[in-house]
Amino acid sequence: MTLASEAAALPAESAWRNAQRQFDRAAELLDLTQPLRAILREVHRELVVHFPVKMDDGRVEVYTGFRVQHNLARGPAKGGLRFHPDTDLDEVKALAMWMTWKCALANIPFGGAKGGVTVDPQALSRAELERLTRRFASEISLLVGPASDIPAPDVNTSAQVMAWIMDTLSMDAGYSRPAVVTGKPLAIGGSRGRPEATGRGVSIVALDACRRLGMDPTTATVAIQGFGNVGSVSARMLAARGFRVCAVSDVNGGIHNPGGLELEEVEAHLRRTGRLAGLPGAREVSNAELLELPVDVLVPAALESVITAGNAGRIQARLVVEGANGPVTPDADAILERRGITVVPDILANAGGVTVSYFEWVQDLQSFFWDEDDINIKLERVMRRAFAETAEQADARRVSLRMGAYLVAVQRVAEATSVRGIFP
Ligand code: NAD
Repeated sequence: MTLASEAAALPAESAWRNAQRQFDRAAELLDLTQPLRAILREVHRELVVHFPVKMDDGRVEVYTGFRVQHNLARGPAKGGLRFHPDTDLDEVKALAMWMTWKCALANIPFGGAKGGVTVDPQALSRAELERLTRRFASEISLLVGPASDIPAPDVNTSAQVMAWIMDTLSMDAGYSRPAVVTGKPLAIGGSRGRPEATGRGVSIVALDACRRLGMDPTTATVAIQGFGNVGSVSARMLAARGFRVCAVSDVNGGIHNPGGLELEEVEAHLRRTGRLAGLPGAREVSNAELLELPVDVLVPAALESVITAGNAGRIQARLVVEGANGPVTPDADAILERRGITVVPDILANAGGVTVSYFEWVQDLQSFFWDEDDINIKLERVMRRAFAETAEQADARRVSLRMGAYLVAVQRVAEATSVRGIFP
């Protein structure tokens, strides 16, 4: 297929098409050679598995899962596993490519991968979820291992899910293999600071972005879409740094209080009722409304393609920090840039998670565990260096922070790919 016909065959909001468009722009600016463009705009390996799971009522369901590796030039493949009803190969390929750039930008020695299962985990019992996880882990064990490909948590996968994967691959080997996944519980070789790492990283780059824009964080208001691992920790960490978090949402919708939300009350209410709606003193808003609120900072921290050409003209924030992967489409990016809205791109903003996953993997391989202070100091150093390198490129080439980040990252992967050469 030609590139044009390949693009035409994809759905309008294809995450993979968007990821390739972002890469193509960077390749153009870097003046990459034809072989490098051809290699880097495709994924290296994609494994699709259809596997049976015994349900509690005796039925057998067949689920579809994916593991995709985009590029391995700089080291083993790294990337999360997502359990979601809309997960498909197109999405997983995009997420794998973004992981390659993210690891390169953070300058950690990993390539990019991603995986997932098309499933609504909320519809499963705990026992069904465990059986699904273990069978999926076994199916993708063809690719996974400490030296080859190391999964981690993503949407709807937790430390418990990582523990089941670690146990399954350890049972297969006959001995414990903690370094096969990251984001594990502390009791089996997890890292201190990992559950908070992505949100902590979001708050670190948000502060750097405020400094760049001359914005005072102690008077800045924030809206956050998604109140899972990334969204809830970002909220807490941003509030700790002086930002006023006014709106948060999850899959069921959101709440808004222009005067600021008491996050402990929000968490307690969510634990008690299972919903954000109904918190006293806060108005209910839809997820679409939340994105367009009059706030200074917007943190999309749920799913991809939520800011599109359709709503980018109505975003009121001055600063968008991408906690999620791929929340702003390339068309929306162009509109936001024209409107003078700064976007801190996903491959920079949410790199804290994979950075501490890297620390976890190093600790597991050495069987030597670090204090949380050491981890947080090292994380801050990585995030601030990546921000500075991104800003430097953006200023030197007069491009957006997204393109600045891509120029740094793609250049590093291109160099590694080029110096290794083509086998045979
Ligand atoms: P999570 O499962 O912990 O939380 C996801 C949140 O998004 C939940 O609050 C859920 O209710 C909400 N949500 C789901 N569908 C939604 C919808 N259609 N509209 C609005 N909200 C919706 O997942 P997470 O780990 O916090 O991941 C969130 C995003 O951050 C994803 O894009 C993920 O790839 C990215 N990310 C995660 C990590 C990590 O360490 N967990 C690291 C980097 C990037």
